[in-house]
Amino acid sequence: MSARQKVSVVFGTRPEAIKLAPLVLALRADPTFETQVLFSGQHPDLVRPILDFFGVGVDSALDIMSPGQSLASLTARAMTALDGAFRALRPDWVVVQGDTTTAMTAALAAFYQKTPVAHLEAGLRTHAIYAPFPEEINRRCIGQLAALHWAPTPSAAEALRAERLPVPPARLAVTGNTGIDAVRLGVELLRRRPIEDADVHAVVAHRATDPTARCVLVTTHRRENVGAPLRRLCESIRGAADAHPHSLFVLPVHPNPEVAETVRQVLGGHPRVRLTVPKEYPAFLRLLELADGILTDSGGVQEEAPSLGKRVLVTRECTERPEGIGTGHVRLVGCDPEAIRRGLDEILEGTSPHLAPAFPYGDGHAAERCVASLAGRPFAEFVPA
Ligand code: UDP
Repeated sequence: MSARQKVSVVFGTRPEAIKLAPLVLALRADPTFETQVLFSGQHPDLVRPILDFFGVGVDSALDIMSPGQSLASLTARAMTALDGAFRALRPDWVVVQGDTTTAMTAALAAFYQKTPVAHLEAGLRTHAIYAPFPEEINRRCIGQLAALHWAPTPSAAEALRAERLPVPPARLAVTGNTGIDAVRLGVELLRRRPIEDADVHAVVAHRATDPTARCVLVTTHRRENVGAPLRRLCESIRGAADAHPHSLFVLPVHPNPEVAETVRQVLGGHPRVRLTVPKEYPAFLRLLELADGILTDSGGVQEEAPSLGKRVLVTRECTERPEGIGTGHVRLVGCDPEAIRRGLDEILEGTSPHLAPAFPYGDGHAAERCVASLAGRPFAEFVPA
């Protein structure tokens, strides 16, 4: 029997953990592979509960964070730590996800050792180098050196083909986004193991009060919105909460101190705005299911919400995930107070058209396709519904 292929799966942040968990489970279930999970330590507190929820064990944990460090220093520490880890593990493949500093440095460290890199969620592009920052350039760097590209959608694959990457076309597969696999697995797990959560209770209680009660889930963390745009965004939320007595906003506040300070200054103490700590993924998923609409600058949330039939107002000027605009679930509102208010008013007045679940980003079976492609087995590519 031939030796199993050693695959090192590397991640550091919350979105990577969520999107890689289904792939790690699928790889570990496949006898072709011996899978090692490496955690860089970029978001330690946010990542642990996700791994516990999905039952993903970590084989090696690095420690790349130091207080107040710059992006350059984070990159340098991550490169050194990952270089050492790959020398010790000697993987046949390194798998990275998306566009974080961990993903970019892991890909580069692997490339320096001539270890092939498989890139999950390849081909997302805004074509604007500072939006999102530094992610647009991180994912372009990974795209240049990856040996296998798992594009979530046909348009992401198209973007990669247009870049004439130095790999043969057969090394590019349309798989769907594993974030939708995570929603599917997560919803199943929650049916079997319901959770206790104060914000979930508050939303359920609020909606039980009267049929016009509405709830909006908000997330905000993008570096490019920090400062005046974030203040405008928070003021628009405040205006909508003032104007709609039956509204409830739930906003898990991102730990970035610049985000937290503005959010608390503008929205702290409002009776219809619940500012909470970042939610553990299972509770966040329940809040997504319960919400009447979502206001977010998050990439992952943009993808998840349509699969649960939810409207998403995206507080960004451009998106690398345009597919949900086509299905009518996603609307770009930037940080323009009027566009945000219009969108929020529609949700809170119940005048937005009813939306059925749609699957423009993935059908919940992306991880199976990635594993088949890594093993060189035939599979049917993802076709958006
Ligand atoms: N998420 C979470 N708790 C929260 C907010 C978001 O578990 O309080 C999840 C969400 O379901 C999504 C992911 O975190 O899967 C998105 O992470 P983030 O917005 O940090 O990153 P992005 O997707 O923009 O890269």
